Amino acid sequence: MSEPFRCGFVTIVGRPNVGKSTLINRLVDRKISITSQRPQTTRNRLIGIKTDERAQIVYVDTPGLHTGARNTLERVMNRAARGSLEGVDCVVLMVAASGWTAADDAVMSLARRQPCPLLLAINKIDRLKRRERLLPLMQQASERTAFAEIIPLSALSGENVTELESSVLRYLPAQAPLFPLDQVTDRDDRFMAAELVREQVFRSLHQELPYAVAVGIEHFERVGKRVRIGAVIWLQKESQKGIVIGRGGERLKRIGTHARGQMEKLFDCKVHLELWVKVRAGWADSQALLRTLHYGEE
Ligand code: GDP
Ligand code: MG
Repeated sequence: MSEPFRCGFVTIVGRPNVGKSTLINRLVDRKISITSQRPQTTRNRLIGIKTDERAQIVYVDTPGLHTGARNTLERVMNRAARGSLEGVDCVVLMVAASGWTAADDAVMSLARRQPCPLLLAINKIDRLKRRERLLPLMQQASERTAFAEIIPLSALSGENVTELESSVLRYLPAQAPLFPLDQVTDRDDRFMAAELVREQVFRSLHQELPYAVAVGIEHFERVGKRVRIGAVIWLQKESQKGIVIGRGGERLKRIGTHARGQMEKLFDCKVHLELWVKVRAGWADSQALLRTLHYGEE
């Protein structure tokens, strides 16, 4: 007898920077969630859909949970992370192979409250010099709570990622697909374009700028086989402008070139990108502006 078709929701949770977005991109084989070495890269809940002949798995990427949220943005991000746990078929808690932390405990206690199975993914095993070090970590993890399964993997190299997929599959209900078979995410092209700009801002600035960066799309139009996009990089302070623009506009130019390259890959066509840098004090505390920048919507 052949296996029935399965379809369901899987939320991936974990402390900031542990590799959740990298894993989602790997699982759906497309870059739908931006990643960087900075902790607050993912701000919205977003889904990645993987459909094949056996199943449709809907992965939910979440912002990492912030303990002691400092402003409206962080509170909105926490709400998105918590909300994405409700009603799912399976939760994957992600930790890093470098060791269990107090922040991992905090996320685990939230995840454990859900009535569905909880799996543990131990990420970044490519960084381990000695694989034997995994055993004590797996032991330590299984003492903390009863995980349905523990899967060591590397989201970056792809090692063991198909094992995670096979594990997750077992916990999904037999039902017809919920999304069109070719749909990969729930976000539109404008959102993706804004995210790709924000990713390049994060990547090019490293530690020089705090998290006070948001990107809004002013226009997005298809002209024949091209897309013309205008985007604004919003900052909190006038003094941050120079950092983003760089000497002679050099840095902004580099941000634009890299973002455009990523957009051309994603949209599979030529892109004309115009970038502006503007200041609006306190945007991370303004509900209204956060809404227009797509934060906190469901
Ligand atoms: P998130 O905040 O949990 O979504 O984490 P990201 O997916 O944005 O990843 C944070 C950083 O960890 C990025 O610099 C990734 O390239 C890196 N990273 C993610 N997965 C792995 C992995 O398996 N191995 C290594 N070495 N780095 C990884
Ligand atoms: Mg992320």
